[in-house]
Amino acid sequence: MHINCQSSLNSEGKQSYLSPKVAAKLKTALLSYGVKLSDSLRHNFTESVRPPMRVRSGSCGGLDIVLPGGTYVNCPINEPFAHRSPYSLVAADDGLILRGPGGDDQPVSLLPMPDYYRQTSRNGEALSSIGQLCGDRLGIGLTNDCIYWRHPSERCKFCSIGLNLKTETRRKTFNDIIEVIDAALNDSVSPARHILLGGGTPSGPDAGALGIAQIARAIRMQWDVPIYAMIAAPLHNDVLYELHHAGVTELGMNIELFDRNVARELMPGKHQAIGLERYLEALALAAGIFGKYNARSIMIVGLESMESTLKGVDLLASIGVLPILSPFRPFAGTILGERSPPSFEFLWETLEAATEVAAKHDMPLGPLCIPCQGNTLTIPNHPAYLS
Ligand code: SF4
Repeated sequence: MHINCQSSLNSEGKQSYLSPKVAAKLKTALLSYGVKLSDSLRHNFTESVRPPMRVRSGSCGGLDIVLPGGTYVNCPINEPFAHRSPYSLVAADDGLILRGPGGDDQPVSLLPMPDYYRQTSRNGEALSSIGQLCGDRLGIGLTNDCIYWRHPSERCKFCSIGLNLKTETRRKTFNDIIEVIDAALNDSVSPARHILLGGGTPSGPDAGALGIAQIARAIRMQWDVPIYAMIAAPLHNDVLYELHHAGVTELGMNIELFDRNVARELMPGKHQAIGLERYLEALALAAGIFGKYNARSIMIVGLESMESTLKGVDLLASIGVLPILSPFRPFAGTILGERSPPSFEFLWETLEAATEVAAKHDMPLGPLCIPCQGNTLTIPNHPAYLS
């Protein structure tokens, strides 16, 4: 059976359109519930569609679906809760339909498999195990080893980084990384438009920043492309300048949880070793170094109270940091894998309130790139957003 991965046309033979707010509601529902797939659809579309791959901390490991009007969703399909979702993806003669509760149908499309996913490096590593496309961004975890993940008593309990060895090479060489960047930026089917460098947190006070700076310098020698570095907050400020000098354009240091008691319980190692105060100090400095919107911090929604999340958004935006809200996704095999995902109502209320809180400081919710918003809570109608 061949599955057409483009969206179906509506009953008048036209492409459908959803207003940004309606699309944001549908996206938020999909992030909460996930989507069900039939076995035949799951089996058949893998040859042409970008496969879901759980990599790095895991939160872009779903299926990339594009809603009418161009809203991207990285939709959970493999987690148990997704198998019970009221939404299902259905193959129609002329494309794909997202079927909602009550038989509400929307034509949707899936992102194509990049050509480089079929290639290997000179070392014989699958290029897709070195760097993966999420939306239009090539994400490279320099390593999926993390000092905080190694022992369960120190691990961030929501993170799956040590479980991803099937899809992600553990240690990547410099040449592997440059090869995948070259292949992804020049991909004939789905070229990457920007690069994320991150991964687990190695030991050392720089939190992996110096390794990222080395790769960023090598990228800058060949390509003019935005580079987003994502690290734990380093203990010393000089490495923030080093990342900027190396050509990094955006820097993310994710506070993840604002409530200190919840942070102590759910990310004990990182909470104790770095702590919120150091994060905020480094983020405020990064906002000055990297400029407006380019210092970022992800918060996980659904593991602490809404009030606490909103306090975090307020504080981040007030120091010039772009807040990014990522709904908690309980990944199979993680310590929190049996928890329920946050409800649609909780996510939507948080999204609306956080949008207002951030706007008081002239900040949207991040990220700015619409294809990269697939696993985050946003209403894609802010003038700073880039399609
Ligand atoms: S610091 Fe925490 S969230 Fe980040 S990779 Fe390590 S265990 Fe995962």
